[in-house]
Formats: sequence, C-alpha cells, structure tokens
Amino acid sequence: MARMTSMPRPLLNRRLAEFGTTIFAEMSALALSTGSINLGQGFPDTDGPEEVREAAVRALRDGRGNQYPPGPGIPELRTAIAAHQQRRYGLAYDPDTEVLVTAGATEAIAAALLGLLEPGDEVVALEPYYDSYAACIAMAGGRRVPVTLRPRDGAFRLDLDELRAAVTDRTRLLLINTPHNPTGTVLTREELTAIAALAVERDLLVVTDEVYEHLVFDDVEHVPLASLPGMRERTVTIGSAGKTFSFTGWKVGWVTAAPGLVAAVRSAKQFLTYVSSGPFQYAVAEALALPESYFTAFREDMRAKRDLLAAGLAEAGFGVFRTAGTYFITTDIRPLGESDGIAFCRALPERAGVVAIPNAVFYDHREAGAPFVRFAFCKRLEVLEEATRRLAKLRAR
Ligand code: PMP
Ligand code: GLN
Repeated sequence: MARMTSMPRPLLNRRLAEFGTTIFAEMSALALSTGSINLGQGFPDTDGPEEVREAAVRALRDGRGNQYPPGPGIPELRTAIAAHQQRRYGLAYDPDTEVLVTAGATEAIAAALLGLLEPGDEVVALEPYYDSYAACIAMAGGRRVPVTLRPRDGAFRLDLDELRAAVTDRTRLLLINTPHNPTGTVLTREELTAIAALAVERDLLVVTDEVYEHLVFDDVEHVPLASLPGMRERTVTIGSAGKTFSFTGWKVGWVTAAPGLVAAVRSAKQFLTYVSSGPFQYAVAEALALPESYFTAFREDMRAKRDLLAAGLAEAGFGVFRTAGTYFITTDIRPLGESDGIAFCRALPERAGVVAIPNAVFYDHREAGAPFVRFAFCKRLEVLEEATRRLAKLRAR
C-alpha cells in the first residue's frame, strides 16, 4: 500500500553523493573474489628496499615515532625532503616553515584544497584526473573545471588554448599532475612554462601532484612546476614515499611550498589526521638519502616492466598509448571491437582473469574516456607475463 510519507533524507551528504566507492576498492575486491591478476590498483607486489624496511623496524623498536610525532612531521624527515628538492631540482625550502609531512599524498591533496579554497572557487584540473581530486574539491565546496587531455601521436596531450579558456575570474587554483595518472603523460618543459605563465598572468595558485617524479622513462625529464619563473611563491608541490620507495601502505607524503601556503595546508591537515606514520617517517628520512643508484635501478626495473606489458597488450590487440612516466599504461579497447571501458573492466576477470581500471571514472566527460582502460605494470615480471598470456585470449575472439 502506498504511504504518503516523504522520502527520508539520504545519510550521505550531497557533496559526496556522486562519488560512490572508489574504483580502486571496487576493482581490488573484484580481483580478490575472482582470483584475478590485479593490474588495477597501482601498488607494487614487492616491497621497497630492505634497508628502508629495517629502518622502520629500528625506529619502532627504539621507540621513535610510536607516540605522536610533531604536527609538521619529524625534523629529520623535513630536512631530508628539503635536501631532496635541493639536490634534484635546485629548489631550496626551509625545513621548518616550507615543508609539511602528510598522511600520504592523499591527505596533502585534501588539506591543500580544504585550506586554500573558498566555497564557489573554481579549480581547473587536467582530465582524466586522479579520483580523490574531484571528491576533495567537492568537500572544500569548490567547483571543478576539467580540461581534457586528448590522444595525439600515441600519447595524451594538453591543449594549452583549452587550458587558457578554462580560466575565469572565479578560478582560484590550477590542479596539475605530472607525471600523469592514468595516462602516463609527462608534461614537457614547454607545456609547464605555458602553465606557469598563465598562473602568473591570472594570479592563480597551483597545486601540483608530482608523486611519480622518480618514475620517468627513456630520455623524459620531470620538471617541477615550482622550479619555473614566478612559480615558487604560488605553488604547492606534493610528493609521496609510497610510489618512490614501494611502500604504499606507509602513507608518508609531503608538501613543499612557501610559508604562507604551507601554513594554509597545515591549518586543514591538523584537523584531518593531526599526524600519522610515526616510525615510518624515520625510515623515509633515510630512504630519501639513498644513493642515486637506487633511483636509477628503480626506474630501470619499471621501464623493463612497462616494455613487457606494453608489448603484451599490443600483442593482445589493444591500442597502446606511450607511457613516459608513472607505472600505468592507458590502452584503447576499440581495436578489440569494444567501446565501453567500464563494462569491459567488469567482464575482464571472467573473460581473462585480469583486473584493470576503466579510465572513464576519471572523467566528467565520461564519453571522452569511455574506450580507455588502464593497466598497472608495477608487478613482478612473471606476473606480467602471465597476465599477457591471459590477455592474449582476447585477440582470438
Ligand atoms: N596522486 C596520484 C596521482 C596518485 O596516483 C596517488 C596514488 N598513489 C596519490 C596521489 C596518492 O598517494 P598516497 O598513496 O601517497 O596517498
Ligand atoms: N594511486 C593508486 C592508483 O591510481 C591507487 C591509490 C588508491 O587506492 N587510492 O592506482
């Protein structure tokens, strides 16, 4: 019998209602329940350097970091982060006022947006975007304005005119990600110079997610936006130990920026987690001081994995975009006679025993992302080989 009561108010608020469960949780659960190879969520299937793991054990045993570490992060880690930025990029940051340790890059992104945005502010972000960007912009009451990276010459590229056109008088902030997840694009010095010029001209803040800074391949160069003219004072740079040292569960990230920007991010951060990852902070401080040979070997290992998976995907009949950075390959499923990446990824465990991520979930313009599917190659070579054997079945159909 129909009742005349009004609909109960939904428990989840309107800001978050559109986001549902993150694709990474959904797809990793699917991998587990179907026994599939998980090339979805981007985490390595081997841990990082033994000496870094041991450093964490030592800290834990020695009672360093087992109680709340200082709010901005332990001084040893802040100093190591500043030294890393100086050594690699010639960027000088004061460890006391210009470095903040966060619970992974995820919290850095959230705190930056919550600390810097007023409700109604527009944020221009590259599309496809990492999924937490959209949710955090919404939680901060901002409005996202996506600028779509489009396939050109085998890679996804930014149209600088589109970027310029997306900026309005309400734009407060550009949210940049290079090397870019999920496309594998690394913005060139020329593109970044144009972005910098736009930010200066329109007096915009920039939050730049550079968590894959060490994962660039071949002759590709990672250029930190903060190193370009006029950018240091307006740029919040985000890094993470998860990707660089293959300890994604430790959740140690950081922000480097001018003091006023760091203070704004810290204002939000102190009420999110206050602090996190005590003993791991000591270990990451040591990791950041590893010799250059670690970073070179890490990159070389990932490059070999990229090449293996890219060849396997091409062999299986996918269109394969060139990955210049990150540990992801974006593919086009249209050569396989498919067009809906979400349906394709839901069916893939059953069809081939492999899990991947549909890029469409990283788009506002879902149709623009529909035929693209992302595979992670941060897995052991034998796992990638088995995955490509399984995916080869798709071609036979
Ligand atoms: N930004 C991007 C582009 C990512 O791919 C990820 C996932 N590692 C994050 C941020 C989150 O990093 P973390 O695990 O350090 O929170
Ligand atoms: N950054 C990882 C990816 O893109 C996943 C992180 C997460 O699970 N939130 O796959």
